[in-house]
Amino acid sequence: MSDSTKPMPSEEELKKKLTPKQYHVLREKGTEAPFSGKLLPLSKDGLYHCAVCGNPLFAAGAKFDSGTGWPSFDQALPGAVREVADDSLGMSRTEVVCANCGSHLGHVFDDGPTATGKRYCTNSVCLV
Ligand SMILES: [Zn+2]
Repeated sequence: MSDSTKPMPSEEELKKKLTPKQYHVLREKGTEAPFSGKLLPLSKDGLYHCAVCGNPLFAAGAKFDSGTGWPSFDQALPGAVREVADDSLGMSRTEVVCANCGSHLGHVFDDGPTATGKRYCTNSVCLV
């Protein structure tokens, strides 16, 4: 049994709900090409939600332009994401997943330019 607080759609339902690219990134830990994502225009007090389960993940005010081509945030909402060690591709990185549904969002790095020192590098297709 899972400990999630919201009922999770099945993988079949997710395949219908998400675009093929969203499904690949979120459920198969893919990565979108840099600068390919549409950066949603949002007011400063808007929220970015998980594309799978709707869990609020990041505040628009935490978003900054990292120049990497992926949406970047200097902090996540409290308890919104889980950080998981990722040693794939011969690199030691920290994967960021939705705390509610476990979907892959991106990676977090400790070289952020703001006061938090964190850089949450996310795939824009994971956010709504
Ligand atoms: Zn989620």
